[in-house]
Amino acid sequence: MLPGGTVGLIGGGQLGRMFAIAARRMGYRVHTFEPSPDSPAGQISDKEIAAPYDDLEKLEEFARGVDVITFEFENIPSASLERVARVCPVRPRPGVLHICQNRAREKEFLGRHGFPVAAHRTVESAAEAAAEAAAMGFPCVMKTADFGYDGRGQSKIGSAVDASEAWAALDAPRAVLEEWVDFRCELSVVCARDESGRVECFPPSENLHRNHILHRSVVPARIDPSVAREAELLAVRIARALDVVGVLAVEFFVRRDGTLLVNELAPRPHNSGHFSFDACATSQFEQQLRSVCGLPLGSPRLMSPVVMVNLLGDAWQNGEPDWPALLSDPDVKLHLYGKSEVRAGRKMGHFCVLKPTGQEAVEAADEAVARLFGRAEPADRA
Ligand code: AMP
Repeated sequence: MLPGGTVGLIGGGQLGRMFAIAARRMGYRVHTFEPSPDSPAGQISDKEIAAPYDDLEKLEEFARGVDVITFEFENIPSASLERVARVCPVRPRPGVLHICQNRAREKEFLGRHGFPVAAHRTVESAAEAAAEAAAMGFPCVMKTADFGYDGRGQSKIGSAVDASEAWAALDAPRAVLEEWVDFRCELSVVCARDESGRVECFPPSENLHRNHILHRSVVPARIDPSVAREAELLAVRIARALDVVGVLAVEFFVRRDGTLLVNELAPRPHNSGHFSFDACATSQFEQQLRSVCGLPLGSPRLMSPVVMVNLLGDAWQNGEPDWPALLSDPDVKLHLYGKSEVRAGRKMGHFCVLKPTGQEAVEAADEAVARLFGRAEPADRA
């Protein structure tokens, strides 16, 4: 599908917004399907259809108006995606989303293909949760199987009582109980796979989370090059095993001995790949566009060391943040997502700091955080 064509985007969040910016830059039209009007992606699109994800009639109408469909949001009912796939090509294929939108299925897929994952069990009742948590040992982590993201539906379990309480709070038919991983750091690799099966990886990013939400990414990651190579190799093999055409993000834990465990997959651009918008020859959003439109992939080459810092709603607690103070460093690039409603924990934007060396980028990001929030960054590592 060549420039001038229309891409259909399901989901209207910030990932879609940055996708739409990339698509419009290359001369495509974008139609967005998203339940709430005036969405971050809708603001950039040629057309925004505001309807629930299970409105099959509206989805079909949307599908008839576009040449190819992709998505930026994982919690779309798979029945909806199957339905639009009858009208218009969907990339990645709906089966990929079906696996990745459920932690139990995702872990089963990874295990079946021999990829390294943390020890885990699927549990379906409070009693089972308590018994399996005791058998696994404390601490461990309970996560909802479906519809979890950004730490939602996730809790650390310190006792059998915690396990029953966490089960009740999840209010879901199924959960995954996972061993606690004592990691040295977290990494992710975003890659893109085209129709011919070629895969290109962005350099791994080193990710620091706060309250289970990504806080910042450092690229290049401060890890042994052999660990970076291994992470890229695993990402490529997972993309092939899943038969993804599009973008795939693979999150890893790096254990203290340097070995890797796959934590999560996302068959779409990922927060930890936002650095690519400012720091790579081709961004993850342009790779998504190129791969779903059947164009050759671009170069994911890193042009500059970079640190990406997320801006959550919390940054607005004393009113509008001091943007001129943030931007007083000319190497800071600000991205805001056009969300009018501010909520604590809501991803409102991010910034990237580009510097000649990784060390300088980390220091400049710390200074930028201090200018914006008037506080120092906590130490990066345990
Ligand atoms: P997830 O939603 O699975 O990506 O989890 C969000 C974050 O919670 C991860 O990036 C980790 O920082 C933390 N986390 C999740 N699972 C575990 C685990 N099994 N052991 C230690 N930390 C975890």
